[in-house]
Amino acid sequence: MVKETDYYDTLEVKPNATSDEIKRAYRKLALKYHPDKNPSEGERFKHISRAYEVLSDPKKRDLYDQGGEQALKEGGSAGKFTSPMDIFDMFFGGGGRMGRERRGKNVVHQLSVTLEDLYNGATRKLALQKNVICDKCKGYGGKKESVEKCPTCKGRGVHVIVQQIGPGMMQQIQSVCPECKGQGERINPKDRCTVCNGNKVVREKKIIEMHIDKGMKDGQKLVFHGEGDQEPNLEPGDVIIVLDQKDHPIFQRRSHDLLMKMKIQLTEALCGFKNRIDTLDNRVLVVTSQPGEVIKHGDIKCIVNEGMPIYKSPLEKGCLIIQFLVTFPENQWLALDKLPLLEALLPPREEVMISDDMDQVELVEYDPKERPHCNHGEVCEEDEESPQTGVQCQTS
Ligand SMILES: [Zn+2]
Ligand SMILES: [Zn+2]
Repeated sequence: MVKETDYYDTLEVKPNATSDEIKRAYRKLALKYHPDKNPSEGERFKHISRAYEVLSDPKKRDLYDQGGEQALKEGGSAGKFTSPMDIFDMFFGGGGRMGRERRGKNVVHQLSVTLEDLYNGATRKLALQKNVICDKCKGYGGKKESVEKCPTCKGRGVHVIVQQIGPGMMQQIQSVCPECKGQGERINPKDRCTVCNGNKVVREKKIIEMHIDKGMKDGQKLVFHGEGDQEPNLEPGDVIIVLDQKDHPIFQRRSHDLLMKMKIQLTEALCGFKNRIDTLDNRVLVVTSQPGEVIKHGDIKCIVNEGMPIYKSPLEKGCLIIQFLVTFPENQWLALDKLPLLEALLPPREEVMISDDMDQVELVEYDPKERPHCNHGEVCEEDEESPQTGVQCQTS
């Protein structure tokens, strides 16, 4: 049990989330609430980043799980949070602070894709609005020789007001110069470039084509170098597209493998089955059990080479892993007088020795809500559909 769930709630994950789930949650939420996209959610963006910073660090997560925020404070990591933008840049591969000073901002977009897209490959177009250096004035904002030092701030780019706020008390207020917007230079209004209106850049629409290759995965980035906003004297940043895979109703992806559950009837489990699987590229596979083979509830089998194509060598594929769920008949499905016929065919029972001094007890339905005191073991795990032998996967 964890002490507080605040950070988990912020990232919308369960307290037992794996580090991959935490990463994925951060990626989705950080893109959704980034100030570029959602300027009114600045506080939320900060919380998301803070929660991620703690939960992505095993030591801090441990501390938090045991003692909540208080423990983090005592552990000395309170108040020392990294800035949300730096976390975002580190996560999405921005140049970091050093790079950012000489380069424009990276722009990160999320692209929603289906598992079919990642299996078959796909091409998408994205329309971007971006600033480009004005062609007419080459980024000077007007005639080159008409650029002059800003008279309001004398080229400093800031505006200082000294105010008397009481007897002998002066206050200095510094703000970005409104005349030159902090640039320290300006162009005489009559010499301003008519195309960009002196702004040096113009807004332009640009279509970029994104190639989703077979085998790419959720969270993978497509980087378009230098496609960010242009600014005079600054190398433009990158446009980064992050793939976001939608859940698939049948298949789950684990690395190169695909996982699915298959329901079969008890009869099929005992006497054999034949079943069809529709693949992600619209083929139909027919699976048949071996004659005499018994499939138990929870059994896991696989079909080699029917998983995901491997990125950059798409002719190879992972496995399709199938977990069988055996559906048993309902109560009273067979008349009582027929049961001996069935029993005669089934494996014999084991004899149980019973004597009079033993207590006869009654079996009733178990409801964990009604009997919370029983609920302290794994018996009461909520996921009743998947048996104890859950599918384990390798991540590479
Ligand atoms: Zn211009
Ligand atoms: Zn100025």
